[in-house]
Amino acid sequence: MASPACAAGGDARSSDALSIITDLTTDVGQRLGGTEREAAARDWAVARLKELGFANVRSEPFPITGWVRGEEKAAITAPVPQKLAVTALGYSGATPPQGVNGELVYFPTLDALKLAPDGSLRGKIAFVDHAMKAAQDGGGYGPFGEARRQGPTIAAAKGASALLIRSIGTDHTRSPHTGVTRIPPQGEPLPSGAVSSPDADLIARLAAKDKPLTASVTLTPRFTGQVMSGNVIAELPGRDPKLAPILVACHLDSWDLGQGAIDDASGCGIITAAALEASKSGQLARTIRVLWAGTEEMGGFGGQAYAKAHGAEPHAVVMESDTGADRVFRFLFRMAPQDKPLAERIGAELAKMGIYTGDGAPEGGEDVGYIAEKQKLAVIDLNQDMIRYFDWHHTPDDTLDKIDPAQLQQNVDAWAAVLKILGSYTGTINPAG
Ligand SMILES: [Zn+2]
Repeated sequence: MASPACAAGGDARSSDALSIITDLTTDVGQRLGGTEREAAARDWAVARLKELGFANVRSEPFPITGWVRGEEKAAITAPVPQKLAVTALGYSGATPPQGVNGELVYFPTLDALKLAPDGSLRGKIAFVDHAMKAAQDGGGYGPFGEARRQGPTIAAAKGASALLIRSIGTDHTRSPHTGVTRIPPQGEPLPSGAVSSPDADLIARLAAKDKPLTASVTLTPRFTGQVMSGNVIAELPGRDPKLAPILVACHLDSWDLGQGAIDDASGCGIITAAALEASKSGQLARTIRVLWAGTEEMGGFGGQAYAKAHGAEPHAVVMESDTGADRVFRFLFRMAPQDKPLAERIGAELAKMGIYTGDGAPEGGEDVGYIAEKQKLAVIDLNQDMIRYFDWHHTPDDTLDKIDPAQLQQNVDAWAAVLKILGSYTGTINPAG
C-alpha cells in the first residue's frame, strides 16, 4: 500500500511535514487542552523535535480552566419528533441530567437575538442561525463565528434555558462543529450546543410554519477546575546570537471530536518541516524558534503564556500556520517602512510559486498575536486556501485523509523560501509599530 509520503513523491520536505501530521493524528489522536491527551501530545512533540535535530527543546507548562464533554442529545419534540445532531460548545454549561425542554425560539442572526427583550426567553431554548459561506480567505469565520462566541452570554441575559446555534461551518453533513464560547463574566455558563447544518435547515423550515415549535436539549459537560496545559518550544540556533530570532508557530492541542489533522497538526508539520528545509544547506545566521502552542482552541492560552514568559526577549518577526494544509495563495506582511525591501524580496520569491502579495493587514493568529502586540513585531501571513477548511473545522471529520500531500508540500516550500530569506538576513528587522 502506498504510504502518504509516497503519494507526495517521497520528497524529504513534504515527508517531514506529513510524518509529523500522520504520527500526531495516529499515535496521539485528539488532544483537548488541559487533558491527559494534550500532555501525551507534549511528550510526543518533545521527543519528535529532538529526533529531528532541534536544540533547546522544552515544554513550558501553564494552568488553564479545564472542561470536558459529557452526554450530548437534542431533538425537536413538536410539531414532529426529530433527532438533532448536536455537540456542546467548549466551555458550555450543563443542563440537568434529564435535559431541558421548552419552546424553541428561532433567530435568523445574532443581531436578531440581541434585539430580543430581556427576560423574553425565560424557560425557552434559543436558536441562532447564520448564513456563512465558503470563501478562499475564510473571511466569514470572524463575523459569523460571533454566534458561537457571544451567543450564549446574550441568550443567558435574555433568560434562555439553553442555546442552540447553526454550526459555524460551510458543509452540508450531519457532523456538528464545536468551538469555544466565552465563559460569561458573571453567572453560570449557559448550556450551549451547535447543530449540524441540515438540522439547522430543518429548524428554520419548522420555525417558518408558525406552529408551536419545541425541543429538548441534554448537554452534560463538566468544568474540571485548574488543570495544566503547556507550550513546546524548540530552536534551530543561528550563527549570530546577536540577531533576534524568527518565531514560527502552530498549535498542538485540538478539539476532542476528530484527530486535529487540519487543525492544527498540519500547521505544526508545515512550520517544522520548513524550518528544517530552510537550514538544510547550512546553518542560518538567525535562529528559528518553533512554538507548538498548547490550548489555543479554548482561548489562545498558549500564545498568552508565551508572551508572558518570553515578552522580555528579542524577536525579529512572527509567523503562524493554523488554517489547514491547502495551498498558500497570498502573502501579507506588516513590517517597518525601512524593511519594505526585505518584504519585496520575499514577495518576489513567492510570486514564482503563484503566491501574490496582498495589500491587507496580516492577522498573525492566536499563537503569535500576543507577543506581536506586546512587542509591536513585524508579522508575516502566508494565507492558505480555505474553501474546504470550514467543511471540517472542529468536527469529527478533521482527519488525516483531508490532507492533500501536494498542497501540503506547496506550503512547506513557501514557508521554507520565506524562512531562508529571513534567516539569512543579517540586518535589523525593525518593530512594525
Ligand atoms: Zn486551529
